[in-house]
Amino acid sequence: MSEKINLECVQGDITNQSDLDVVVNAANAQLRTGGGVAGAIHRAAGPKLEEACRPMAPINPGDAVISPAFDMPNKKIIHTLGPVYNVDKPSDQLLADCYRNSLMLADREKLTTIGFPAISTGAFGYPVQEAAEVSAYVVHSVMAELHQIALIRFVLFSDTDYATFRKAFGIK
Ligand code: ADP
Repeated sequence: MSEKINLECVQGDITNQSDLDVVVNAANAQLRTGGGVAGAIHRAAGPKLEEACRPMAPINPGDAVISPAFDMPNKKIIHTLGPVYNVDKPSDQLLADCYRNSLMLADREKLTTIGFPAISTGAFGYPVQEAAEVSAYVVHSVMAELHQIALIRFVLFSDTDYATFRKAFGIK
């Protein structure tokens, strides 16, 4: 049902997307709180999130796991571990796995609206332009396999990241 999926890029905060069923965490392997997105999500969801995640840790680059959202306004949180750029290799395939596995997991869980941050582009050092191209490619290639997802939103923190993703997705 790929023609029915809406793709959006917005500038904003991933913890402030109350209209989405599920948001994706740029997690660390231990599924603990941290800097960047992981810190923001764990602060917003509250301490029960770390407790719920503990039995699922550690995860490998490209993996995606799901938890309740606790104090966040969404139904669920998907945690995916991005590759450390040029350390976890091949970085482009592992980054693509993050998006593919997160989308397939959300779809299996019958969630219809999903939000992503720019995975790996913070502490993990992935150049934003390259990350945006991988994201656009993998999202388009996986769409035909999604049956429940109706909206995929990329939530970019900075105005330059927002412009880069919009361009990669061909959004004016
Ligand atoms: P990684 O460790 O996968 O690189 P980070 O959390 O360090 O993940 O950063 C990923 C991207 O998310 C960076 O571009 C960063 O600027 C951005 N970011 C940080 N906090 C937020 C937030 N609250 N909402 C959306 N994006 C965020």
